[in-house]
Amino acid sequence: MKINPYAWIEASLATIHRANWYRSVQAIHGIPGATVLVAGVEVINFASNDYLGLAGDERLLTAAIAAIQEFGTGSTGSRLVSGHRELHSELEKAIASTKQTDDAVVFSSGYLANLGAITAIVGKRDLILSDQYNHSSLKSGAILSGAALIEYPHCDVAVLRENLIQQRQNYRRCLIITDSVFSMDGDLCPLSALLDIAEKFSCMLLVDEAHGTGVLGKNGAGCVEHFGCTGRELIQVGTLSKALGSLGGYVAASAALIDFLRNRASSWIYTTALSPPDTAAALAAFKIVQAEPQRRAQLWRNVNYLKKLIKELPQLKLLPTESPILCLQLPSATAALTAAKQLREAGIFAPAIRPPTVPTSRIRISVMATHELGQIEKLVAVLKNISA
Ligand SMILES: *Cc1c(COP(=O)(O)O)cnc(C)c1O
Repeated sequence: MKINPYAWIEASLATIHRANWYRSVQAIHGIPGATVLVAGVEVINFASNDYLGLAGDERLLTAAIAAIQEFGTGSTGSRLVSGHRELHSELEKAIASTKQTDDAVVFSSGYLANLGAITAIVGKRDLILSDQYNHSSLKSGAILSGAALIEYPHCDVAVLRENLIQQRQNYRRCLIITDSVFSMDGDLCPLSALLDIAEKFSCMLLVDEAHGTGVLGKNGAGCVEHFGCTGRELIQVGTLSKALGSLGGYVAASAALIDFLRNRASSWIYTTALSPPDTAAALAAFKIVQAEPQRRAQLWRNVNYLKKLIKELPQLKLLPTESPILCLQLPSATAALTAAKQLREAGIFAPAIRPPTVPTSRIRISVMATHELGQIEKLVAVLKNISA
């Protein structure tokens, strides 16, 4: 008897539905900002990674349009063949200058930057130690590299050290990988301790600053600057798609490492170069991040105000956070979905995040510099009535 080799798909989808894990897309209309149009209804936007409100900024729009007019919509090839433009070098210089590293290289997304960097620098004879809560791109990069992989409990430096004492001598190179801001929780990695351990055990350290760049540190350089670790030897990865309001990813590190990546990172070599408008918008964003620290100051005023109001409501369980990502823990996926629905009906857009993305269900709120105090107060007024 012949069975349909695609029949498993419907069955798997049914299982996803039953567990309340089913996801689908919804369209946002217009220019993104502190409010957005979802299904024709204006809602206050607490679901965006656009922390500084730059994705709709006139200066980024103008830069992107000018780049299209000058260079076209596509970059027409990979960087090493026909895709490279001066604009890419300018952006890479701006990234290296913000991060205070020798050099930087831009990838077509943050996901590809992690895949490319990790698979280029470690292989079969090596060991990766990875925080259990790391982003999917770090986890995928680790698997794809072929290195031995140990996941350590979230931010647990003691277990990490123990693993290194036991295992380090069995491998050639060793790489520790971590998010700097954990994207589904909002807490920070213990960066200084990780750097000390990396030094002690001769390990490389790769930190993913996707949610840190533009947000943390006096100059918006990220968690590395926030913790006073600028200039220490490590590999900084990040994205151009969050606080920078564009699309693309990057690695910032020593000149030698960046040179090596240009020769060995498959996800950079064998993919089309970042498009001219994305590159130009990101470059405009880096200039704004450097020139307008007041945007970052406003973001943190909003974050602290919302935190203070949430802490006045004892029924809400705020997960530990040191970033603009605030998560309210809920007992089940169903409870999280119900809460998200209640919020939406009251004109607030804040998503439910459920397994398998995270171990426990939650409402994830991300604060923007462009939120008004009244919008934050409205969020809290609605949260008061959430049945947890
Ligand atoms: C969003 C994110 C990425 C992926 O970046 P993209 O540019 O969107 O591909 C990588 N790492 C972390 C921690 C992220 O939050």
